[in-house]
Amino acid sequence: MGTKGREIVKDLKRIVNELRKALADEWLAYYQYWAGAKVVEGAMREIISAELEEHAKDELKHAEMITGRLLQLGEKPILSPKEWYSLTNCGYEIPSPDGEKIIKQNIKGEQCAIDVYNKLLKITEGRDIITYQMILEILKDEVEHEDDLEILLQDMKSMK
Ligand code: FE
Ligand code: FE
Ligand code: MG
Repeated sequence: MGTKGREIVKDLKRIVNELRKALADEWLAYYQYWAGAKVVEGAMREIISAELEEHAKDELKHAEMITGRLLQLGEKPILSPKEWYSLTNCGYEIPSPDGEKIIKQNIKGEQCAIDVYNKLLKITEGRDIITYQMILEILKDEVEHEDDLEILLQDMKSMK
């Protein structure tokens, strides 16, 4: 990115560090959803799988957005998947084939993501308006993800 564009960012190092951690989270979230969509079993399999696939796509989009911003800020994307585990805030859970369990696993992941991005909003506020706007967009998606999964879980429970 242009020199001036970087100059207007305050606390650049801290923001870059936090973005790298969030990027690790997004890759792990992407993979957890992607793999989950393949292994989920049971009567609701198709509905759950479709929702997980959709969320996987969104997490991949978030990884793209964060990578784009990191490059603008003069930082490389994460080049080794090994680093995903050392950088992650939210970790990774091996997807359960059980429909209710997998939804609960992903709700937990979304709640962690909401916390992470809510904190990132506070960190970037007044320091880096471009990243702030991007994080706001991502946070909207994570809030929607949590809501979708909680509704799906409710629907499943009411069918019993
Ligand atoms: Fe995400
Ligand atoms: Fe999400
Ligand atoms: Mg959804």
